[in-house]
Amino acid sequence: MISDQKRIFLLYKEAIQRELNRTMSTDEIRETLLNKRAELLSRVERTSKHLYKRDKPVSPIFSEQSVEMESRELIYRLDGEGKGEIRRIDKALQRLDSGTYEICESCGEEIAKNRLEALPDTDKCIDCANLEGG
Ligand SMILES: [Zn+2]
Repeated sequence: MISDQKRIFLLYKEAIQRELNRTMSTDEIRETLLNKRAELLSRVERTSKHLYKRDKPVSPIFSEQSVEMESRELIYRLDGEGKGEIRRIDKALQRLDSGTYEICESCGEEIAKNRLEALPDTDKCIDCANLEGG
């Protein structure tokens, strides 16, 4: 015979377990990806504007030149990173559409749910990502 207290405890435990096991639906993942994509896109647009619409001549003072080059390099890098991330998100959205979102591109195994939730634009399982160093 199981006591009320014990029954309540078990129900409580079950509810917590359900919450822990709850995974994001495809729609939620798509929404997350689309939100992130929009955010990146506006960031890249801002960076690009800054980068390509500069018509000021380079400063004739050497020390200022190097500061200018450094910040330009940084902006180029941010621009490249943002665009790379958008490409990964586009790929993830395609994988969602084709139903291969949860399949590792390298080994064909299923990618762990918690990995996909942490890194929604990944296309590799944790083992393959570790093998390839990222
Ligand atoms: Zn794999």
